[in-house]
Amino acid sequence: MNEHMRLMLPGPTPIPPSAQNALGRPMINHRGPEFAELFARCMDGMRWLFQTRGDVVLLAAASGTGGLESAIANTLSPGDRVLALVAGEFGARFADMAEQFGANVTRLLVDYGQAFSPDELASQLALVPYRAVLITHNETSTAVMQPLEALTRAARRVHPDILILVDAVSSLGVVDLPVDAWDLDVVVSGSQKAFMIPPGMAAASVSQRAWEASKVATMPRYYWSFEQHKQFEGKGQTPWTPALSLMYALDESLKIMQAEGLPAIFARHETMTGMLRRGAEAMGLELVVTNEAIASRSVTAIYPPAGIAADAVRQRMQADFGLVLAGGQGKMAGKIFRIGHLGFYQPLDMLTVLAALEVTLVRMGAELHLGAGVRAAQDALLKGSVVHA
Ligand code: PLP
Repeated sequence: MNEHMRLMLPGPTPIPPSAQNALGRPMINHRGPEFAELFARCMDGMRWLFQTRGDVVLLAAASGTGGLESAIANTLSPGDRVLALVAGEFGARFADMAEQFGANVTRLLVDYGQAFSPDELASQLALVPYRAVLITHNETSTAVMQPLEALTRAARRVHPDILILVDAVSSLGVVDLPVDAWDLDVVVSGSQKAFMIPPGMAAASVSQRAWEASKVATMPRYYWSFEQHKQFEGKGQTPWTPALSLMYALDESLKIMQAEGLPAIFARHETMTGMLRRGAEAMGLELVVTNEAIASRSVTAIYPPAGIAADAVRQRMQADFGLVLAGGQGKMAGKIFRIGHLGFYQPLDMLTVLAALEVTLVRMGAELHLGAGVRAAQDALLKGSVVHA
């Protein structure tokens, strides 16, 4: 293990020192008053992050996938017609999961690297009385951010009461996601992303419409019962033993996020995305997502230069610089590398990764002008909206 190792994955992500230190605190009684205070602070923080006055029901021990199961199991019944928007690996999993639980799933597909059109969604929904639509907000595998607000509006135009179930595992805390203002029913996220803490905790917001749906939904649920979580929150507890260490860390990371403020957090991600994209272009590299409007603000996917293998680039970046990049997934495996930039990152990290990438590609025989990528990123930073005192 290289002591200089730095993760640039779209999760797990680096952890701020105060959250890292909090992980080592001693255990407390999770049925006692000290826990109730910690839990209340974290839940208030979650409502702030989800931008909701409604309920955030879970801070449960699970990865993001567990949270997604909770959305399906609590709101749907076997046989319910569900439209799943599948733009990559994570959208495909969400659809498979609903099918495993007995939903009648139709998949709407787009090519990898593309976003869904709200009009096309509306046309599809007009064909059948769907009960729910599943949307993966940020498709981490292809680095596409779907136009969630426009898709939701289009869906509600056709079926005002359709359930909108959102995978926001890699978008919450990165881009604006006002759950109430956009009228989203269940929105799920996971701790190892923009929460800036280790994997192992999932969270979900639940709208009034979703609560009504949960009363009639018949899919089996126990661990994930929203009702149980809500009842126990009233007592300052979780129904099952919580991931205490992660909650200590979350308490710290929420302080950092709240001190920065949501607008500044979103602006920082926007600027970092621009830096990486302009830098990669200036190096002559092809981006998987060419349309700026739908480019993920959490992760950037890049094709290597012709004749150089994507996975070899990642190996050299790790061996020579300790920078750990992600590979492609599914049919993109071996074809691209992905640079994660959600959570505890700063513009400096983008300058660093681009400088290292330039050296790596030159070492591997690519013809490029050293400094061109860094220069373009510096320009993007100067034009960007990150404000420094
Ligand atoms: N959905 C998206 C968009 C993701 O990026 C991920 C993880 O990368 C998941 C779901 C699955 O989350 P987990 O691996 O925490 O279960």
